Amino acid sequence: EHKETKSDDTPVLKRESKPAIFVPVHRTAEVQAARMKLPILAEEQAIVEAINENPVVILAGETGSGKTTQVPQFLYEAGYAANGKIIGVTEPRRVAATSMANRVAEEMNLHDGQVGYQIRFEGNVKDNTRIKFMTDGVLLKAIQKDFLLNNYSVVIIDEAHERSVYSDILLGLLSRIVMLRQKRGNPLKMVIMSATLRVEDFTDNQRLFKTKPVVIQVEARQFPVSVHFNKRTAFEDYVDESYRKVCKIHRQLPDGGILVFLTGQQEVNALCRKLRQTFPGVKKTGESKPDEDMEKVLSKIKAKKQNMKKRSKKEVDQRVKINLDHYSALPLQEQEQDHDESLGDLVDSDQELDINDESEALSQSQTAPPLWVLPLYSLLPSYRQQKVFAAPPEGSRLCVVATNVAETSLTIPNVRYVVDTGRVKTKFFDKVTGVSAFHVTWTSQAAANQRAGRAGRTGPGHCYRLYSSAVFNDEFEKFSLPDIARRPIDDLVLQMKSMDIEKVIHFPFPTPPDIQQLYAAERRLLLLNALEPPPRNIRLKRKISQEWTSKITPLGRAMAAYPLAPRYAKMLLLSQQHDLLQLSITLVAALSVQELVLDQPADSEPGDTHRRWLGQRRSWAGTGQSLFLGDPMVLVRAVGAAEYSGDIEAFCSTNGIRSKALREVRKLRVQLTNETNLIIPSGTTPIVVDPRMAPPTELQAKQLRQILMAGLPDHVARRIAPNEIKEAEDRRKYKYAYRCPEMEDPVFLNPSSILRYSHPEWIVYQDIYEHDDKIYLRGITAIEPEWLPVFSPSQCTFSAPLELPAPRYDSDQGRIVCHMNVTFGRSGWPLPVMEL
Ligand code: ADP
Ligand code: MG
Repeated sequence: EHKETKSDDTPVLKRESKPAIFVPVHRTAEVQAARMKLPILAEEQAIVEAINENPVVILAGETGSGKTTQVPQFLYEAGYAANGKIIGVTEPRRVAATSMANRVAEEMNLHDGQVGYQIRFEGNVKDNTRIKFMTDGVLLKAIQKDFLLNNYSVVIIDEAHERSVYSDILLGLLSRIVMLRQKRGNPLKMVIMSATLRVEDFTDNQRLFKTKPVVIQVEARQFPVSVHFNKRTAFEDYVDESYRKVCKIHRQLPDGGILVFLTGQQEVNALCRKLRQTFPGVKKTGESKPDEDMEKVLSKIKAKKQNMKKRSKKEVDQRVKINLDHYSALPLQEQEQDHDESLGDLVDSDQELDINDESEALSQSQTAPPLWVLPLYSLLPSYRQQKVFAAPPEGSRLCVVATNVAETSLTIPNVRYVVDTGRVKTKFFDKVTGVSAFHVTWTSQAAANQRAGRAGRTGPGHCYRLYSSAVFNDEFEKFSLPDIARRPIDDLVLQMKSMDIEKVIHFPFPTPPDIQQLYAAERRLLLLNALEPPPRNIRLKRKISQEWTSKITPLGRAMAAYPLAPRYAKMLLLSQQHDLLQLSITLVAALSVQELVLDQPADSEPGDTHRRWLGQRRSWAGTGQSLFLGDPMVLVRAVGAAEYSGDIEAFCSTNGIRSKALREVRKLRVQLTNETNLIIPSGTTPIVVDPRMAPPTELQAKQLRQILMAGLPDHVARRIAPNEIKEAEDRRKYKYAYRCPEMEDPVFLNPSSILRYSHPEWIVYQDIYEHDDKIYLRGITAIEPEWLPVFSPSQCTFSAPLELPAPRYDSDQGRIVCHMNVTFGRSGWPLPVMEL
């Protein structure tokens, strides 16, 4: 009943065979005016027509041209959401899924749930949802439940140029689903949206698309951006350098927002802090109480006033008063500011901005307006992320300090100056050993150009690159590596096998994974019993993947149903046998969010904070013998205690727990409980989440350790015994070092591990990483070596039947005994003798 014939002001579809549908949307005049400015609006007709007539359409357009917010609306109006069908949009980042859904709901004036989002931990999707924004992982799960995605009329893969692993897989899967749906006369449309980068990866890929898909290029109304390279090759301390650059821009250049690109949360926070100190006076938002800020401002003003006897008292009072009135800038700059800095390379000679008169610039700096400094990174709570879209307070300048999340997925309005450090933090991993490491490296040329482009959205802009053009040309890669080349793919392989794609190697990946990486993933899944073991003759040759296509086991299938890494899914499935689910769900939830407990207090915390945190964590880990329980136990107890405390925020800040992560754990517990209730045997009482969970008993703690071990069979390590080290010097160096099977170098416990003081002999670890040329283990649990033959028999070698000593009668014990020798791993670490 929503259908209407087209009204005059909407584009007319040319094709007559398909009746033109028009579903009206009632937008406000304000929204309508903002939309009209977006370059994509001029292409509406061409886009809708291309999608009507082709199964696959690629839409390339500069960031900010309106792809994400407008294309779903075009399709809604063209009837793609009619008959209960859903328009799906996938985003690689959670931030984008939530904020874009909110924005589109706002623009369409639909607040009844018709526009919704679903990310791993949360969502507001309802039965009536017609436009559904989701993370790419969520759609992959949907495909597992219904391979043909029958509820969807169109799926838009957004930000395809980011080459996130799940987006890549979705491209491969959808290319096949589209064909199947076409055969069944119920066509599904696929739209690939990308910034104008590397579209050839998708168009010229015969494996992916036999016939080249249609490409529509949206011409963006991009204003010219002058790019200023640095004369120096690069700065060692690029955070400091970006600070100086922002100060200069703010003091000397005309109005317009500043966007700074750094590599990580800590850098972002450090720079924000420094900038706020330098340009104080704007009421801070959320982080601290306004009164406190006011107090600081007042005391600083008082100090300044005393230093300024030379000036006329009246003049000073006047300025102080004025500034206090609007609660803004200090009357005078702080002493430590770099007044003496020359303008240096801030502007190249060809600049239209005439700020080369140093004295004038300095006098301007005396009255620099307040700077509205906002951080932006993916772990930031979303209500704080949203702040970048709002106009800064009257009279102040916006400065967003961001990681590369601001590169393409979010367009911050009114940015005129970009400060680009040229760096990016990337996780690298060793394809065989799985050792991961974060390295700050140069970003790619394509990414740097994206960053520069952010300055030209609303008018001509400037991009200051803190590196030279020689570095850009010679040391930057053209494009960034796709994610699939940068992380283990166990989860992917399992997901694909659960969809009965057995020959993963033949899957039409946009960029296929490395063969080594694929073998390593299969081997780990085999250890987790998620895949059928190959016959013995093939196993001996160790050429598993070449000759043997491993099938998924029932356990593997059950594991694939959870939105978790395979090893964590296995832990949950194992704990069904015990009365442990409440605890193991919490454990797994806590293990799968990022950084639940903080390693280090912020600089602003008092000096003994770390010691206090540690004390609390040790008591959570247990006492005496049970201190061996380890780091995961700290997580479980932290969650329990936080939920028990009643005041989460206060509890988190006293104990060094990240409250956003804690809230994610809470949501994940509910979700995992629901998933678990779906698979527990019928007749069993469903579990209900009990937030105020009691701490584990000694027996439960032991069972949790065994469950951890069963999920981490490839992550066993053993402390190096003193007699294994020959050189005296090494003996000191490797005193508490550990050895991992198949790894030559000794490894160390992460300095913040609770087990660093007790260093038990046998452990399993959550994660292995490299830092400053040393390899560390993180998330440590102590295990008993006797458990290994039980939980990971495939890694153990048992003394062959013929060598088995004959059973004998043990008169002390009064029974017949038979001992068996067992060793662990390829290097044959002896385990305690097994008694049968
Ligand atoms: P693209 O996907 O092509 O990069 P978008 O559709 O994301 O472009 O953005 C189009 C415009 O909508 C941009 O100018 C952006 O600033 C604006 N916009 C997006 N989200 C919001 C929001 N939450 N509030 C205000 N403006 C927004
Ligand atoms: Mg977009």
